[in-house]
Amino acid sequence: MAAVENRLLLKHADEDYYSPGIDSYLEYGGYETFKKALTLKPEFIREEVKESNLRGRGGAGFSCGVKWSLVDRKSTKPIYLICNCDESEPGTFKDRQLVHKDPHQLIEGMIISAFANDVEQAFIYIREEMPLGAKILEKAIGEAREKNFVGENILGSGYSCDIIVHRGAGAYICGEETGLIESLEGKRPYPRIKPPFFPAVLGLYNCPTIVNNVETLCNVVHIVKMGADEYAKIGRPGNTGTRIWCVSGMVQKPGYYEIEPMSMRELLYDLCGGPLPGRTFKGCVPGGGSMKILRADESYRTKRGREFTFDEILVDFDGIQAAGSMSGSSGMMILDDSVDITEALANITAFYAHESCGQCTPCREGSLWAKKITARMCTGGAREEDVDLLYDMTGNIGGRTVCPMGYSTTWPVQSYIDKFRHEVEANATANTCGMKSFDERLIEK
Ligand code: SF4
Repeated sequence: MAAVENRLLLKHADEDYYSPGIDSYLEYGGYETFKKALTLKPEFIREEVKESNLRGRGGAGFSCGVKWSLVDRKSTKPIYLICNCDESEPGTFKDRQLVHKDPHQLIEGMIISAFANDVEQAFIYIREEMPLGAKILEKAIGEAREKNFVGENILGSGYSCDIIVHRGAGAYICGEETGLIESLEGKRPYPRIKPPFFPAVLGLYNCPTIVNNVETLCNVVHIVKMGADEYAKIGRPGNTGTRIWCVSGMVQKPGYYEIEPMSMRELLYDLCGGPLPGRTFKGCVPGGGSMKILRADESYRTKRGREFTFDEILVDFDGIQAAGSMSGSSGMMILDDSVDITEALANITAFYAHESCGQCTPCREGSLWAKKITARMCTGGAREEDVDLLYDMTGNIGGRTVCPMGYSTTWPVQSYIDKFRHEVEANATANTCGMKSFDERLIEK
């Protein structure tokens, strides 16, 4: 039987009967879960979220409940909640759908999370490139405020909380939570050094702060609605709930798919329609541009030694990790045999060189060198030793920087070379790629 989606968060999103306004949301049970939450103890809700095993949907996959438990509750300072709606990782477009099509689900998830964590001021940090999303959210918050789901003395409960939409200026690094906090404070978004700046202790205005992704916060509504035990039955242990995958690139039906864990074959063939006519899959970048590439014709091995194929990779946090990469932001980019791997790498390195905030020398200089070397592999002038030079040099970026973005250059470069060394070497030595560089194409535009 062909695999199908399990739409929990996107249940109404693409239906003709549904609009992003509050009337639609209320008609289908909206804010009832928040009313239920107001009758519960905040610590009970926090425990439920922990028990559900909800993992953050933004990138690292850290337990949401554990993240909440790290908040410094002994502090006399206010606790803040920030919804990270920066969604800047290449290939990722799921939060945009949630914001555009069901903004009240996010607001309900935020207000429940705020109540559970004694937060009275919450923020949605949205990137500049999502102006429509910002307008939709501002309108939706206004509607929620009118109905007293947000604001002073909510529904007569004595609990007050407001939500502010803050538009970023459009930098990749604002997706990193401490860079985001700096930006929200009105500063240049240089990520902070951890320790001591763990947001749960020293976050926004040096107060305890929770930063959660849009999809993560939307899940909170469903956990509180159905209870942690029921929620944990969706998916599999360690990978509970559904996940929205953004599939782009060389498939017949690219798009966003909300699924429980399923095999790569089921996702790419049953849901995405398989490769384009006459083409074969070459590889996949499974979790946004910074993740390690996986080869479609390779066999993989679990820690216990069991072999499995690309088609058999389980599409969830642990399944992708077992194949040697990470599910990251769930932006899955599919490459087929028409793609020149060196050009793909040059595009990726150009992006991360452009987006380095410049604070750390290895990232600032290393990403630029990677961009220059991969560009000359594509456009001419590369040297025979460039492949090893590139590999060696990028090994000195990730892990030697303030924030994890150092790996955004290291992982693509090293995995593309590990998996496709012959192809990269052929371009480097013969300059056969013949493609125009990212910058050249930008200039042409
Ligand atoms: Fe900035 Fe890169 Fe350092 Fe992160 S790793 S702080 S993006 S220079």
